[in-house]
Order: sequence, then C-alpha cells, then structure tokens
Amino acid sequence: MDDAMTALPLVFDAPRRTKPPRHLADLTRDEARAAVTELGQPAFRADQLARHFYAGVTDPAQMTDVPAAAREDLAAALLPGLLTPVRHQSADGGRTRKTLWRLHDGALVESVLMRYPERATVCISSQAGCGMACPFCATGQSGLTRNLSAAEIIGQAVAAAAAMANGEIPGGPGRLSNVVFMGMGEPLANYARVRKTLDALLTPAPHGLGLAQRSVTVSTVGLVPAIRKLTEEGLNVTLAVSLHAPDDELRDTLVPINTRWNVGEVLEAADGYARRTGRRYSIEYALIRDVNDQPFRADLLGRLLAKRLAHVNLIPLNPTPGSQWDASPLPAQREFVARLRAAGVPTTVRDTRGSDIDGACGQLAAADQVDGVPSVAVPVPAVEEGPVEEGVPLGAESDQG
Ligand code: SAH
Repeated sequence: MDDAMTALPLVFDAPRRTKPPRHLADLTRDEARAAVTELGQPAFRADQLARHFYAGVTDPAQMTDVPAAAREDLAAALLPGLLTPVRHQSADGGRTRKTLWRLHDGALVESVLMRYPERATVCISSQAGCGMACPFCATGQSGLTRNLSAAEIIGQAVAAAAAMANGEIPGGPGRLSNVVFMGMGEPLANYARVRKTLDALLTPAPHGLGLAQRSVTVSTVGLVPAIRKLTEEGLNVTLAVSLHAPDDELRDTLVPINTRWNVGEVLEAADGYARRTGRRYSIEYALIRDVNDQPFRADLLGRLLAKRLAHVNLIPLNPTPGSQWDASPLPAQREFVARLRAAGVPTTVRDTRGSDIDGACGQLAAADQVDGVPSVAVPVPAVEEGPVEEGVPLGAESDQG
C-alpha cells in the first residue's frame, strides 16, 4: 500500500450538535397525537399531517383538510422544513438526478434519484460525513460531522417519491420503488434512526411510503453487533456488506473496521441474516487497480462465498480527489467476474450512472462549513448493476437497487 492510505481513526460516536427541530417523522404515532393535542387540536390532525408529509406536500396552504387557521401553526410545529435543496444536477437525460441538501445547521448531504424503465431508486444518506475511514471513499476521508435524524433521512426518500409522483423526472409521473442506504454515512452506526426510517419506508401509505422490503437495501461496512440486531428485528430488507477484500490483511487497510470485526465474523453475521430471511445478501466490492483486483483474490473471494447465500456486486472504483487509486481496467474486471462465476458465485457489475455529475460512489466532495467544522457532501454510488458482458456493463438485478 502507498501513502494514499491515510490512517484515520474509526469514529463510532457522532459528535453532538444542535438537534434538528422536532418533526412528525421522528415521533411515534402516539407522540404525534399528543403533540397535536398540546397545540389545542384534535389528535386526528396528526394523521392528516402524516398523510401530507408522506405525500410530499410541504405547503401548508395545500393541507385543505386542516382548518386554515391551524395549518401554519401545525406545520411549523410538526413539519418544519429540514432539508433545503441547494442544487439539483441531472444526467442521463434527466433520469438521474442528484440533490445537494443543506440541513438546519449547515451540514450538507446528498441523495441521488435514478429512474429506470422498471423502477425508480433513491440513494439516501444516513449521516453527514462518516466515521468509518475507508481510504478510497471521499466521505470516509472527511470524517463524521453528525448523525442524521430519522426525519432528515426519511425526508430524502419522501422528496424522491414526490419528485416521481409530480412528474419531475422525464417519463411522466411515476412511483418511487426502491431505496438504498448507499449515500453518505454508515447506516448501522446510526442504528436507531435508520430503524425508524425503515419503518417509515415500509409502512403502507398514507402513513409511510409503502415500499416492499426487498426493494430497500441497507449497506454496511460490517458492524457485526448491529447486523445481528437487524437480524432480530424480523425485517426482510436487503442487506449489503462492503467487503472490498477477501483477506484480512488487505481488508484491514481498505475497510479499517475490519480490525475490529474481520472477514470471517462479518460473513458469519451476514449468513445469520440470510438464514433468518431466506434472502441472498449482497457483497460490495470496489475494484481497485492492482490493489484488490488480482486473479488470486477473485479465486479467494469465490472460495469464500461459493457455499454462501450471497451475490457479488462489483463496483469499478470511482477515483476520489487526491487519491492515487484508479478503477481496474476492463480486462481485469472481466477476469474477476469470470473467476467468481466459475466458482458458482452470482456476480454483477454496477453501472456508472451519474458519474458524469459526480453522482457515483465516492465522487462528490462539496466542502462546506458547519460551525467552522468542514463538512463534506456525499460520495453517492451509482446503484444499478448488471453483468459484465460485451463492452459497457448493462442489465439489472431485480432485487437490488
Ligand atoms: N457505509 C455504507 C454505505 C456506503 S456507500 C457502506 O460502507 O456500505 C455504498 C458503497 O459505495 C459502499 O460499498 C462503499 O464502500 C462504496 N464506495 C465508497 N467509495 C467508493 C468509491 N470511490 N468507488 C467505488 N465504491 C465506493
């Protein structure tokens, strides 16, 4: 390894910052009803507000089932605007749209909405920055600014659902079908808020976004206790593990959390999830030229996964500013895929949607200041994948992204 690998400390506890204003999406239904009652309104107005929130209605004037006199107060008290769009950037003829959001304290995060013929996926952030210190990821190199609240995470998905419903994305009005936690942050390091977000995503409309479990993907560096906890929740969402190396020696440097929970332990925890859900998990592997893309590592990975209920998602590395590393050349990618498949491991290569607007994994690093603390907006992955065949990888995995 070379100097590009700066050794940053692992950070588990997010710095405490001023909390975002109270929002309905952070509350249980009972808490929301109590809050509405305190404002002198009948409890059922909490349900009305929830319906408006999940439908993407932000203007109180449109909440016509709420008495005009109470709309502004209720909205101000329970539906404060937590995400201010700073800019949208579009690619693929508008079918990929990246949004940079400013939070109440100036922290920046991003989400990316990708529309495909069969589905629409939004990639959301769970933290501002990230404490996991992966050296090939711009967010990992920026450090952790803070955890997002549930409402801040949910809001990204709600905004994407509204953009689809309102016909803002070419192709006519449509429905948001998939959510992936592959934006900024380590979702399982912000467990309680992500758990709440999962409820909001999965709860049927009008009290949630009504997504299917398999259409929601939680991606993690491999926080083993949190994977076990997720296993016990009784959910069936898709689990993705960022492995990036089959051997501990290399993974210790690429995914520093490996020094705490190693390859064997992470896969065992993921196996537990697969056993409970009966569902294949995803192994994410960024192909980095001459670092982790050697044929022997493909064989090692193949042996490791051959008997497991796993699927490999290869991501050609998106170089980050200042890094010496590059994506593996196409022949090396093909060889890697071929060896995994020969070992009987289902393998796909993620497409590079959004890379021309720095919307792919690890690409965005819009520096900003939060209370004088630099903060960096998301490396967001392109989330679709397909088999590497002739030329450009195309095609799609039905249960991913
Ligand atoms: N913290 C979560 C979510 C991170 S982003 C996790 O690590 O799983 C989703 C994926 O993008 C992860 O697999 C991450 O390792 C990968 N990634 C980050 N930077 C990248 C880069 N520069 N090129 C390719 N993939 C990258």
